[in-house]
Amino acid sequence: MAGLDPENWEELRALGHRMLDDMLDNVKAVAAGPVWQPMPESVRQGFHDAPLPQSGAPVDQLYHQFTQQVLPYAVGNRHPRFMGWVHGGGTPQGMLAEMLAAGLNANLGGRDHAPVEVERMVIRWTASMLGFPETATGVLVTGSSMANFIGVITASRGVPAGVKMRAEGIQSRRLVGYAGQTAHGCIARAFDLAGLGTNALRRVPMDAAFRMDMDVLRSMIAEDRAAGFEPFLVVGTAGTVDTGSIDPLADLAAFARDEGLWFHVDGAFGALARLSAEYAPALAGMEQANSIALDFHKWAQTPYDAGCIIVREEGKQAAAFAQSLAYLAREDRGLAAGAPWFCDLGPDLSRGFRALKVWFTLAGFGTDGLGEVVTRSCAVARYLAARIDDTPCLELLAPVTLNIVCFRVVVENEDLDTLNGELVKDLHESGIAAPSTTTLHGKRAIRAAIVNHRTTEQDADILLNALLDLAETRTGKPLHRASAETLPA
Ligand SMILES: *Cc1c(COP(=O)(O)O)cnc(C)c1O
Repeated sequence: MAGLDPENWEELRALGHRMLDDMLDNVKAVAAGPVWQPMPESVRQGFHDAPLPQSGAPVDQLYHQFTQQVLPYAVGNRHPRFMGWVHGGGTPQGMLAEMLAAGLNANLGGRDHAPVEVERMVIRWTASMLGFPETATGVLVTGSSMANFIGVITASRGVPAGVKMRAEGIQSRRLVGYAGQTAHGCIARAFDLAGLGTNALRRVPMDAAFRMDMDVLRSMIAEDRAAGFEPFLVVGTAGTVDTGSIDPLADLAAFARDEGLWFHVDGAFGALARLSAEYAPALAGMEQANSIALDFHKWAQTPYDAGCIIVREEGKQAAAFAQSLAYLAREDRGLAAGAPWFCDLGPDLSRGFRALKVWFTLAGFGTDGLGEVVTRSCAVARYLAARIDDTPCLELLAPVTLNIVCFRVVVENEDLDTLNGELVKDLHESGIAAPSTTTLHGKRAIRAAIVNHRTTEQDADILLNALLDLAETRTGKPLHRASAETLPA
């Protein structure tokens, strides 16, 4: 313990101040460095070979190791030109909240203390932000993977005699649910983990705009019913991970109501668009869902990890998760009072104080500020798309609904799938920008997701200019980039 329990508080205080200064400086200067750089083999090997420590080390030594071996080789999502996958950029405010939460070391499984009230406040705010009644229930979780899982479980226990499945398992019930082909992989995983099986998740084909095709959904459900299956759930995605498309949420809400199905929305990043006056109309219908999964660690910029599930009708979530174990018996007063507890609303018992950084995020930005982050990101995406349209050797591969732009470089006599895949790796290794890739209608696409509050139009220019330079180097052919030069660099 010697290393981590110093007698000398003054030394610890000085080190703490230095860490805080260093990290704030590091965040402030993040745009000046590379987005990402590969970890040297020696550093990687150091981690692989490190033996289990027997005696304690002083924290300043551990901090030194952190600065040398971890800090320079992080994933890079704080950087304005990180455009891969869908990652939030984080904020210094969120970092400070993490420090305070760790200092408090609260366990939010339950019991009667202020941190639990902070989470209740944050859940209430989130419900109201999504257009849900304030009586809606919810819980903060690791991310939308867990939030969607809780949504699927809650929906499956909500069918007639569904709670019996908690003790008896699925038994002979033939429950089936529906999601678009573009739904995130975690929906199928939720079906797997819930014991429903991934085959019980029917994948509905998409239309030309990458949205769930309602006509096909209707006929799939009719067929399943005729074949003796029990449809219970339809999942709409508000912001698909590939293209940012939005399923026809209002149609889905009406359809689910008519058919007696649970309507769950995966709004991992897209749900936040409800805070942007410009983009909120695209999400109309989401507020009618039975449950919504969303992340604060994406567009809301809360540091990882922070996801959330909100369930409209009070009691449904507890019916699916609450246990009545004797050691958790709730008292009328004292520290063991204050039921219901968050451990009754999901699978976790011990839970950290995620709510503090979410509070600092929601109160720090305000809903106007978060709406502005969404509007700005989408504006950068539109600018990027316009530049792609203007550049003859670039091709857009999907409509731009929100903040995701899918495109490719087109060079004659080249295998475009290979070329574009290699170019993205070249870009990563250049440190200049980090988009990711996806495959759309069989074509390899470069995918730029603008999620970071630090990203501007200039970053979009830098991305495209670097990409075209790399393409010329790789193919040895001059590219037709005509109008690119006419735009400000
Ligand atoms: C990111 C994402 C998920 C998964 O969320 P995690 O927070 O990574 O667990 C699910 N659905 C969509 C649409 C996403 O973008």
